[in-house]
Amino acid sequence: MEPRVAESVAEIVASGLCIGCGLCEAVTEQRVSMRLTDSGSLRPAPIDGFSPEEETAILAACPGTTASPRSDLDVPADPVWGRVGDIRYAWAGHPDVRFEAATGGVLTALGMHLLDSGQAAFVLHVGADPSAPMRSRWVISETSASVRANAGSWYGPTAPLAGLGKALDRGQPFAIIAKPCDLGAVHAYARTDKRVDDLVVARLTMVCGGQSRFEKSADVIDELGLDETEVSLFRYRGYGNPGPTRVETHDGRSFELTYNEMWDDEAGWKTESRCTVCPDALGECADVAAADAWPGGGPTGEDEGFNGIMVRSLAGTALVQSAVDAGALVIGDEITAREYDDLQPHQVRKKVALSARYAGMSAAGHPVIATDGLRVDELGERLTNDQRAAEIAGTTRRVEAGRYSS
Ligand SMILES: Cc1cc2nc3c(=O)[nH]c(=O)nc-3n(C[C@H](O)[C@H](O)[C@H](O)COP(=O)(O)OP(=O)(O)OC[C@H]3O[C@@H](n4cnc5c(N)ncnc54)[C@H](O)[C@@H]3O)c2cc1C
Ligand code: SF4
Ligand code: SF4
Repeated sequence: MEPRVAESVAEIVASGLCIGCGLCEAVTEQRVSMRLTDSGSLRPAPIDGFSPEEETAILAACPGTTASPRSDLDVPADPVWGRVGDIRYAWAGHPDVRFEAATGGVLTALGMHLLDSGQAAFVLHVGADPSAPMRSRWVISETSASVRANAGSWYGPTAPLAGLGKALDRGQPFAIIAKPCDLGAVHAYARTDKRVDDLVVARLTMVCGGQSRFEKSADVIDELGLDETEVSLFRYRGYGNPGPTRVETHDGRSFELTYNEMWDDEAGWKTESRCTVCPDALGECADVAAADAWPGGGPTGEDEGFNGIMVRSLAGTALVQSAVDAGALVIGDEITAREYDDLQPHQVRKKVALSARYAGMSAAGHPVIATDGLRVDELGERLTNDQRAAEIAGTTRRVEAGRYSS
């Protein structure tokens, strides 16, 4: 069958292509809200609660229908990494920020610097819900202390764009820190709401291996014999690089798992289905994308915290320079695109497999994501005929088995 994209929010959700970014909530001014489903994903509810105008705006921007790059740099696109001006090691200038943050604290350091230097009035990002610390909420940080307090990678469901409408309504310059798919939606939504390009002064992201459903965190506390109501802190990583997953309880107990204990068994990741066919996990809509930088793609122990950063726009170039000049950011050696392949081998494998996965979805009559400018077909040519046939058959089987459903 010819490739096609979903024609309604209901179809996006039913096809497993909603990542729960929260744009649905922003566009409807909270009339439709993001709710955690029984299978542990944030999804818009009700899914038929949109006016025709709202649904048109959402379909044009939703990560479940579309993804495209946003660089204004005059450089050729690397087939895997896209348009990048500079790739290099970097970390936060402040040693405590570097220690507390997920990797080397680049995203937190840039967010703090944007506020401290007056370039942004606030940062829209995510953090733990104080009343339910295993769950996330979108956060508007108006101070660098608040940006720092919300440092760390949140591997469970997040809906940062649920706060986009409130952020735009303030009419002040602001920055967004969010996942690549979220920033893809912001970029596409700018065509509907002109305030986006006027007000968003910096778009910062992480390179992203996939969002886990809430079940992943629920499994962790189950194993520890805890109930969610007992949990006072749930931190996936940080306080070291990668740092432990740490759980604390209201009655003063604490538990830690190493990064490898948390992530060794891929079968337990409970990854969202949209992530398995994500066409831009590398942040091609960001001004700066920050990643882990472990040779081979995984940690062999703890280190002081080194991000690999990709600077993807003129605004990103100016921001990094200004943060370095202020001492907020330290930059290290350059990394070539092919060296970066070795730091992120799983990302390269996924990008190469994608066109075949889309062909498998289409063969099963399933909608896919439009990926203009993301070089998906070009990368797919790296597969041998046998590899391509296996990817197509495997994906068709998974669709037919209901693995791409809400
Ligand atoms: C779901 C997920 C999967 C990842 N997979 C990979 C991978 O495969 N390879 C890799 O190199 N790196 C991956 N990372 C990125 C890595 O964990 C770090 O986030 C990245 O290196 C930036 O580190 P940092 O120290 O600069 O971040 P920090 O300084 O700790 O800042 C993190 C910022 O991001 C925001 N944030 C955190 N989680 C989310 C979220 N889920 N949604 C929206 N905003 C969020 C926080 O609010 C905070 O502002 C992943 C991150 C996430 C969240
Ligand atoms: S991915 Fe975002 S915009 Fe698309 S349906 Fe889900 S919440 Fe709405
Ligand atoms: S893998 Fe892609 S779809 Fe999944 S959370 Fe990351 S950026 Fe979003």
